[in-house]
Amino acid sequence: MLGSLRRAASTPWWHRSYRAWQHCREASLQLIFPPACAFCQAALQQAESDTRWCDACYQEFSARPEHLCTRCGSLLPNLLTDPTQCPRCRRESVRWDRMVTLGSYRGPLQTAVVRMKHANEQGLATAVGILLADKARRELIDHVPDAVVPMPMHWMRRIMRGINTPEVLAETMAFQLSIPCVPHILTVCKRTRKQSLLPPTERRKNLHHALAIRPDCDLSGCHVLLIDDIVTTGASANEAVRNLRQAGASQVTVAAVARALPPS
Ligand SMILES: [Zn+2]
Ligand SMILES: [Zn+2]
Repeated sequence: MLGSLRRAASTPWWHRSYRAWQHCREASLQLIFPPACAFCQAALQQAESDTRWCDACYQEFSARPEHLCTRCGSLLPNLLTDPTQCPRCRRESVRWDRMVTLGSYRGPLQTAVVRMKHANEQGLATAVGILLADKARRELIDHVPDAVVPMPMHWMRRIMRGINTPEVLAETMAFQLSIPCVPHILTVCKRTRKQSLLPPTERRKNLHHALAIRPDCDLSGCHVLLIDDIVTTGASANEAVRNLRQAGASQVTVAAVARALPPS
């Protein structure tokens, strides 16, 4: 299993070169410009400069006063913490075991998720990835993952955006958590339409066999940390989890920057 993960973790030379160039560019910019907060651009004091966040933004993103279901990530009524009592978990099919997010999709977190979809915001995506890794470390202390897998992106979307945000998040989190990142085991088989714009009857058809897993990938007994920037209906995450389990994953935790939920 570990050998398979190591083989899967090897990335093409062109991808490693591109990421190395991006890191050099970021390091050069830091030499020219003084360190600033990744979100609000406020100049950082010496004590803050290691974190990439000013104190106010750090508090906003890392300590949101929200009570979320640990299974599906939805806001819980009346401070319920038992996932078996979560109304959404009882009503909807969720294939993953746990979910870790920084919070619900609103306010500054919503702004950050939208900004992170642009190529010139890689620094923000990296800074958010560090916060999400911290939260995953705290919440998964008894269930440490074996590997990090980003939600795959269609090649055309990747070219149009100039950034693959889930992959940037996954690589950052894997580094922070000291576990392998395996970015190419899930692939997109067809370009899908945005789930939130479709009626419920068409959503399942839209995602039917939309993803595939590399046939030589063996995840037997692995706890996989699946990364996305935002989870909305959860249908894409469910399709990815179906493939990961097909390769043998025994446990899947979804880590997303934000959880957006359609109206109940
Ligand atoms: Zn700030
Ligand atoms: Zn739930």
